Amino acid sequence: MGKILIDAEKCKGCSYCVLSCPRQLIAIDGERINMLGYNPARFNGDSGEKCTGCALCAEMCPEVVIEVYRDKKKQKEKGGAG
Ligand code: SF4
Ligand code: SF4
Repeated sequence: MGKILIDAEKCKGCSYCVLSCPRQLIAIDGERINMLGYNPARFNGDSGEKCTGCALCAEMCPEVVIEVYRDKKKQKEKGGAG
């Protein structure tokens, strides 16, 4: 299982990650405004049981502000082309 970290201060609220997550674990936080003036994305799967670490969200993020962690292999992946 996995989890993600979103650098919310650099997020532009585009919702691509929200739409990309097959488990719907990410939402736009309408109650928060970041330094850039956007409502940032928020991860709702902190229990660690739902996120598969598939990294689709990170791959979709144009700002490359999502880091994906997978428990089993202890791999870390940063979003973007890689
Ligand atoms: S890694 Fe996959 S399951 Fe986890 S939040 Fe991102 S898209 Fe959803
Ligand atoms: S895809 Fe990236 S920039 Fe867009 S809402 Fe998600 S974290 Fe923010």
